[in-house]
Amino acid sequence: MSLRGTILGSMQVGPAAITQGIHMLTDDSTTISELRHRLRTFNAARDWGQYHSQRNLAMALSVEAGELLELFLWSADDGPQPPVITRKPRVAEEIADVAICLLNLCEHAGVDLAAAMEAKIAANADRYPVEKVRGRLEKHDEY
Ligand SMILES: [Mg+2]
Repeated sequence: MSLRGTILGSMQVGPAAITQGIHMLTDDSTTISELRHRLRTFNAARDWGQYHSQRNLAMALSVEAGELLELFLWSADDGPQPPVITRKPRVAEEIADVAICLLNLCEHAGVDLAAAMEAKIAANADRYPVEKVRGRLEKHDEY
């Protein structure tokens, strides 16, 4: 089984999904819990849980983030993003791969993503007070 096969989820985006009659999910109508349930069902049907150690999922997350980054490789700061127009549809695909890996990792690490994000946003708000950092790029220990 290829790495790509282990990490691609059941979610598809774009015209291919429409022609295949797949119900289109949207951020406004879909909860994280629904996505996690869908991935749990998808993975269980394929018996892929045996490959989903936290280590493997963390590596897969990094691989998929690299695939996303590769789409933008060699682009100019003021040039088109991504630099090759035919790569544009793949941006959503790679973002989906990253999200799928992240949700699979949350599942196996016992992490509630919304709670973890809420805690991190609160910590970042303390670390980066608006009155000190607005419009600045330095890290918390550099301003
Ligand atoms: Mg990928």
